[in-house]
Amino acid sequence: MKKFDPATSLESVHELGAYNGVNQSINDSATFAFEDGNAMEACFHGEGGGAFLYSRHWNPTNYSLAKALAAMEGTEAAWVTGSGMAAITNAILQVCTAGDHIVATRTSYGGTFAFMKNWLPKYNITVSFVNTCDLEEVENAIQDNTKLIYTETIDNPMLEIADIPSLAKISKAHNTLLMIDNTFSPMIFSPAQLGADIVVYSMTKFINGKNDTTAGAICASMDFINSLIDLNDGTSMLLGGVLDTYRAANIHKNLYTLAIRMKQHSKNALDLANKFESIGIKASYPGLEKHPQHELMKATMNEEYGFGGMIAIDLETPDRASQFMALMQKEGVGYLAVSLGYFRTLFSNSGKSTSSEIPEEEQKKMGLSPGLVRYSVGLDNDMDATFEKIKKCYAMV
Ligand SMILES: *Cc1c(COP(=O)(O)O)cnc(C)c1O
Repeated sequence: MKKFDPATSLESVHELGAYNGVNQSINDSATFAFEDGNAMEACFHGEGGGAFLYSRHWNPTNYSLAKALAAMEGTEAAWVTGSGMAAITNAILQVCTAGDHIVATRTSYGGTFAFMKNWLPKYNITVSFVNTCDLEEVENAIQDNTKLIYTETIDNPMLEIADIPSLAKISKAHNTLLMIDNTFSPMIFSPAQLGADIVVYSMTKFINGKNDTTAGAICASMDFINSLIDLNDGTSMLLGGVLDTYRAANIHKNLYTLAIRMKQHSKNALDLANKFESIGIKASYPGLEKHPQHELMKATMNEEYGFGGMIAIDLETPDRASQFMALMQKEGVGYLAVSLGYFRTLFSNSGKSTSSEIPEEEQKKMGLSPGLVRYSVGLDNDMDATFEKIKKCYAMV
């Protein structure tokens, strides 16, 4: 059997828009008219036969983006939201109710960590935070009421790689669901093909790649997506964090350049990681042979897309990191900004920014250095020139 390829699968579902426009048409309506009252009533009862009712539920623009995302992941269906956090929180709240338990990675995105640590307990959903790279620790944390195992493919900001096939096995054995945040590695990893039940994305990052909006996605079975948007008790339907159709249409277009962007991000990041190492700066990058999960990544990734666009290096103290980043911004290396997956390089000090929701002692426990500088490597055409600038800045701190 030919190996699943996300780009080929995505390309196979591209369709013309209205009037044979080559792009999907933007639907500019919140509500949709029916022929008569009976047809509308049938739609309310889920017998619409493909008719659209109201834009918080489905609209044609979001529907076609969702179809493309489902093709990219090889899932039956998908749903798009106004932010990555909307996707993550909606999916979790659809799986878990009061009294349930989650086993989650202790190194998740800061917002996800804060949601699990501070918000979910208010509704009596409890979370055990573990090192999800330690499969024994995951299995030992599972309780009778565990509904969900949650982790990130390439975690933030430590860049550890999840062993998705093994986690899926553990999840199946204990009758839980496996949810994977694949924000750092679209196309590079196809978590659903490796056994994940639900794949979530912040499309704000690589998928859109333009840093002009926030957006999110949930890719899963048709049953799960339908449950999310059930008119009576679906979490996404009732919490209402739907994506705007203008943004959906833009993201949809950007999706078709994702494959070549990921390849260039990966090429530049591997090059930069090797250059860091060559002048004695320790870089954490899964494409380096010394990375603890390098072999695991090679065995589970879609190889042609490379090892991703994220690198972390250690400047030891926040002050040194801050000085270094300010100098790099001045030199034109990129921008001192949070977020990732942009066409220019972005860098930030994780402990003081995107992971600041994680208390300092937890940061220590997970090995997050206070001087860690996280790079989201851009699409630069000349990395040699970029590295000369970085070297010059590094010599000054
Ligand atoms: C940014 C990010 C999120 C949150 O996404 P938003 O679009 O900012 O809501 C979740 N997970 C990861 C890994 C992220 O990088």
